[in-house]
Amino acid sequence: MVQAVVAVGGNVGDVRETLRRAQSLIEQQDPASDVRPAELYRSVAMGADAGDAFLNSAWVLETSLEALELLNLLQRVENELGRTRGVRWGPRTLDLDLIFYGDEQIDCPRLSVPHPHCWYRQFVLAPVASLVPDFTHPVFGMTIRQLYERIARFPLPVGYAGEPDNRFTLSSITRAFPRVELRRVDPSIDSAMAGLSLAIWFGSCDSKPESPFWLHVPSNDGPQFVRDVLTAACVNVERV
Ligand code: AMP
Repeated sequence: MVQAVVAVGGNVGDVRETLRRAQSLIEQQDPASDVRPAELYRSVAMGADAGDAFLNSAWVLETSLEALELLNLLQRVENELGRTRGVRWGPRTLDLDLIFYGDEQIDCPRLSVPHPHCWYRQFVLAPVASLVPDFTHPVFGMTIRQLYERIARFPLPVGYAGEPDNRFTLSSITRAFPRVELRRVDPSIDSAMAGLSLAIWFGSCDSKPESPFWLHVPSNDGPQFVRDVLTAACVNVERV
């Protein structure tokens, strides 16, 4: 058996009931599994078209399925419970993301684990920390509790390197996210990150170019990416 961690959430319909049904579908379709759910948390929706506030939670799942079989099962359950894939980060009845599969690192077209965006999202870290606070992230080498504590603080240091796109200035970030304390990292790092327009990191960490804490901002939708990332990192989640 492998211990998997799944982030679960939605913002359409009766999310509490949808999550209950999703859990029982998993238990029916993977009868060997054991699902341990966290409490529910409320968080502001991420993404320009995401809609109402999300309810988020997490499951720790003991499973005998392989990682891709588990992903297939999660996607089947999303589809059965009415998930429609349309707008990226749009409103959704049910979202099931595989965060960890044991301490394996998998990167293939359909699946990346550990989930590449789990480490700075309060709405993932809060419920996961309530279940497995001492689990060590296999890439970052920090426990979930430590990852959560380095994000959930005020002010939140955010370092950057490279040049921000002129469509969003740094002062607009500071205005929109008063919790953020923006700092330029040693400019000599820019050349080590050739080709990047902007990269940011959170919290206290070393800022070497190879650090996994660097988030590379895509050049095509940089402003929205930065807003989404900072929203996920800065907006507190609350237990429902
Ligand atoms: P989303 O619509 O945001 O839930 O993304 C779903 C897509 O991400 C699917 O095409 C999955 O194959 C892919 N994906 C990659 N890694 C993961 C992961 N760790 N958990 C869930 N979906 C993943």
